[in-house]
Amino acid sequence: MKILLVYPCYPDTFWSFRHAMKFIGRKASFPPLGLLTVAAMLPATWTKKLIDMNVRPLTDNELSWADYVFISAMTVQRESVQEVLDRCRRLGVKTVAGGPFFTSYRDDFPEVDHLVLGEAECTLPQFLDDLDMGTPRPVYSENRRADLEDTPVPLWDLIDIREYAAMNIQYSRGCPFDCEFCDITGLFGRKPRSKTREQLLAELDALNARGWRGAVFFVDDNFIGDRLKLKTGILPAMIDWMEAHNRPFYFYTEASIDLADDSGLLALMARAGFEEVFIGIETPQEEGLAESGKVQNRNRDLLASVRRIQQAGLQVHGGFIVGFDSDPPTIFDRQIRFIQESGIVTAMVGLLTALRGTRLHQRLSQEGRLLGNASGNNTDVSLNFIPRMGAKELIGGYQSVLDAIYSPKNYYQRVIRLLREYRPLHLGKFHLQPGYIGALYKSVLLLGVFGKERLHFWKLFFWSLFAKPRLFPLAITYAIYGFHFRKIAEKIKENGMFPNNEGWDEKENFT
Ligand code: SF4
Repeated sequence: MKILLVYPCYPDTFWSFRHAMKFIGRKASFPPLGLLTVAAMLPATWTKKLIDMNVRPLTDNELSWADYVFISAMTVQRESVQEVLDRCRRLGVKTVAGGPFFTSYRDDFPEVDHLVLGEAECTLPQFLDDLDMGTPRPVYSENRRADLEDTPVPLWDLIDIREYAAMNIQYSRGCPFDCEFCDITGLFGRKPRSKTREQLLAELDALNARGWRGAVFFVDDNFIGDRLKLKTGILPAMIDWMEAHNRPFYFYTEASIDLADDSGLLALMARAGFEEVFIGIETPQEEGLAESGKVQNRNRDLLASVRRIQQAGLQVHGGFIVGFDSDPPTIFDRQIRFIQESGIVTAMVGLLTALRGTRLHQRLSQEGRLLGNASGNNTDVSLNFIPRMGAKELIGGYQSVLDAIYSPKNYYQRVIRLLREYRPLHLGKFHLQPGYIGALYKSVLLLGVFGKERLHFWKLFFWSLFAKPRLFPLAITYAIYGFHFRKIAEKIKENGMFPNNEGWDEKENFT
């Protein structure tokens, strides 16, 4: 059997880091971890190839070569998914589709030959058995949650790791919280499930053996879902592994804000090599947190929580949302003030989106406020629901937040604020990555000579070089990120220009 695994293109969003890639000579941020893991579950005797369309184009010859094309995607990749499926149909190639997007939108794809939905550990084996017997069904779906102890190490040999800015590992799935707008609990449940210590170390070994050095992203929905297991088994094992292997990696992940309350856990994470954490802060407005069921963020000093994490040695990246029903007209200024004061450089501000499978989707549907499918891109100003605040006011306010936080002055001010607060442990030695020198050269040229941020760039350049020399590479990294964020903010502004955006009047009329 010849299998072609295809990962469709994702659009240019904050998360793509596409405009930053050209500085470091990489093609994409992360490899398609889900497909690499599925590949490892297929029979070893089958011939497998993987095309990540974010790295290079997919040709018709490659599609025609395959007996089956396996495709997996997130909602945000919808457009590219449709293109791949259309091409497969035209060429007469059979398709097998799975992953979060197809699981949530199963009815939208009658042209797929076999939908293998939910978690692959539960549904793929039955599909493979039926295929072997010559009787594969059109749909495989189960409500059962997978035991991650059955999950194999991804088949890393299918990609060229040098094309990517970071590698990734999934240690756990699920999240104990249940935020109204989030589809994680619907997809993976509230009881965190995780791999064993041995599995995790095997994944670190696999990346190390392939010569990877640098960033490894733990893609978990909430890495600290099962703290006891982390503290007593996983993190101590990672600390030992890192010491024994000359600290080849640094890690980053996603976690809930209550990480700030656990100094023991923070210390262990920092010692294990975690340097960054993404946290869903969402809003400094208490009513918005209450409305969205973000219990862990409520009744706490969010700025102080962020500072505690930064001072423990982890840079904080933050997710923010505007568009809650309870958002007052002052929300935009409050968000800007909070982001500036927090020193959160990577502030991903998005519009509230009603994803299928969420409690929010259900509620808005009951209230008659849904306007169609979510694109999965939370910077998409077309909105898929009727907001309480007028749509024009919401989009205008959203753009004002992006304008403010990604203006060179405010952005570079946050970088300096972060570098002042941040206390990294510096346990490992600095690994000079291929592309670092080129990135420095290109940043000097593109940002320091031609960029509109050049004054701020040089101020940060010399300040970090003399005041925080060990953080100089980080300062340059953030300068490059800033370029990407500004490009995306400009694009969002272009897409949302008034008054041409279709559907505005309808959205404006909700009372
Ligand atoms: S804490 Fe994060 S992952 Fe968990 S439900 Fe809330 S938004 Fe989703």
